Amino acid sequence: MDTKNFIADRLNRDELVALIEYHNRRYWEEGDPEIPDVRYDELLRALQRIDPGNELLSRVYTPQVAGSGKVRHKTPMLSLDKAYSLKEVLEWAEKFARGGDEEFLVEPKYDGISANFDGRILSTRGDGEFGENVTDKLPLIELESIGYTGPVDRPVRGELVIREDDFRTLYSHIRRKGGGFYKNSRNAVAGIMGLKEIGEMVVQGAKITLVDYNLVSYRVRLRELSARWEELRAELGALPYPQDGIVVKLADSAYSASLGNTAHHPRGEIAFKFTNIRKETKLIGVEWSFGKNCLTPVAELEPVEISGTTIRRATLHNVQNILELGVEIGDTVIVERAGDVIPCIVSSIPGSARRSPLIENCPSCGAKLVRRGPELCCPNPECPETELQRLAAAVRSLGIERLGEPTLRKLMEKSGVRHLCDIFELKVMDILKLEGFAAKSAANLIEEIGKARVVNDYQMLAALNIPNVGVNVAKVIFEHTDFAGLRRMSADELAAIPGIGPERAGALVAELAAQSDYLDELLGAVTLIHSGDVATGKPTVCFTGKMPEKRSYYQKLAAAGGYQPVDDVTANLSVLVAADVNESSGKLRNARKHGIRIVALDEFLKELGGDTPEPESGDGQLTLF
Ligand SMILES: [Zn+2]
Repeated sequence: MDTKNFIADRLNRDELVALIEYHNRRYWEEGDPEIPDVRYDELLRALQRIDPGNELLSRVYTPQVAGSGKVRHKTPMLSLDKAYSLKEVLEWAEKFARGGDEEFLVEPKYDGISANFDGRILSTRGDGEFGENVTDKLPLIELESIGYTGPVDRPVRGELVIREDDFRTLYSHIRRKGGGFYKNSRNAVAGIMGLKEIGEMVVQGAKITLVDYNLVSYRVRLRELSARWEELRAELGALPYPQDGIVVKLADSAYSASLGNTAHHPRGEIAFKFTNIRKETKLIGVEWSFGKNCLTPVAELEPVEISGTTIRRATLHNVQNILELGVEIGDTVIVERAGDVIPCIVSSIPGSARRSPLIENCPSCGAKLVRRGPELCCPNPECPETELQRLAAAVRSLGIERLGEPTLRKLMEKSGVRHLCDIFELKVMDILKLEGFAAKSAANLIEEIGKARVVNDYQMLAALNIPNVGVNVAKVIFEHTDFAGLRRMSADELAAIPGIGPERAGALVAELAAQSDYLDELLGAVTLIHSGDVATGKPTVCFTGKMPEKRSYYQKLAAAGGYQPVDDVTANLSVLVAADVNESSGKLRNARKHGIRIVALDEFLKELGGDTPEPESGDGQLTLF
């Protein structure tokens, strides 16, 4: 162990208070934290030891938001007691469990701003008793609740966050007040909630998500908690919300309430906190790797061990970040690894012999590189590496998993494949020509390509690789129109769709026009499933539960059978198909509430008509496709 509590333990009360207040300002007001959360928590623990009643302890993680007055919460919103290891979690759980069968709920600890909507007023947690009224921010906020995504229209307690996918797509072009981009989703949500005036953010299409605390919850018995811990961590880690830990609480809410609260925390809940760990090492090189639209700098490091893993590479994000960090090859750098995300470089100290990591020409085609926003890009539309990356991204968007980058590279070199249309033309013989393929694997690949001919409209739009138009933006668009409608829309009409904005609308219209002939050909080769809620006259179907095949497989069957597959349970859903009709998933509960027809998967497949095609059979005749 390192000298973990060394500094915190040497400080007296006033010094601790001053230090915590300083870090609170760095974190919330300046959006520029100086120490990792785990260090910050050590300061709090030290203060707790010498002065348990200090008011700072109940004010922790309280962001400065610009609201319009204080709101008193009907029931206080307390912060949670914290644990830093599974051992601590288990000790706590064993203390309160009434036996090995005691049930606990395991939920994400979202890393954002805790908030409450009472049906009329949206308020932050504040000090737990009084929150700030932030109702004026509602136009930016989308609620994700069980079986519902949309405007905040019902009482809910949850966390204001920016989804990681939104951060990558939307926030790559949303400028903060005074210019520049947000460094991470936490800074962005704090920054935007801190604005007095959100007009500019509305115009730019900024979006904040309010995640209902009940949305994601796993029920686990005490006796299974330890064995399932890693699996649960991985499941939660795969969610698109920023998280800084895991909440574990007693499932029996009446029992939990009967335990009461300490001065600051409910006894029946605990937060397991992730520990971000930083280490110092040396930057020995920078490799520029190709993406579909630009080049991404990857740091090559002198190997360094962080929480049990040897780190050799870290992301430098983009050229702008390199310039802001002022980092050069030969410098000493601080690398951070937080949870399962890719390690990144957070700061640097100039070395004695250093050289610039920047490049001027494309490593593939030699064209002079250009800056586009924070990125460095190859402007040559024929650049082989850029073309490969764009095609690989398109293939990923369509979900053709067997067709990886190495195979695509060979297809481009040997079979003259350049675009998605060419992929749909491929025959088993073309694949057999490639090294590493046998009859069976070639047939499987062709079959998988064949299945991708029935595809969601948003996947197809995302596959066009238009900058800032990913799957989520595409889904928003298709809530308002279908593909043919989209191609007829003017930039003004598109810009009027919430979340799109004029800049993206302009780029989209121009790209769709530029790719028009190609699009005609492409759309001729596929069958699109319309994803939005626009009335198609077709009955809608939603799937829930763990099924033998991928969800998309059943959605395609349903689409071919005249249904419109949808992702969420709404009041006008026609049928909910469940792997297990007796389960109690949110979708099932919601469907029961709305009196929606629920059928078992087998039954639904029978209704669709006769034989179900074998999804993975090597030479099965998929007559549907
Ligand atoms: Zn190039």
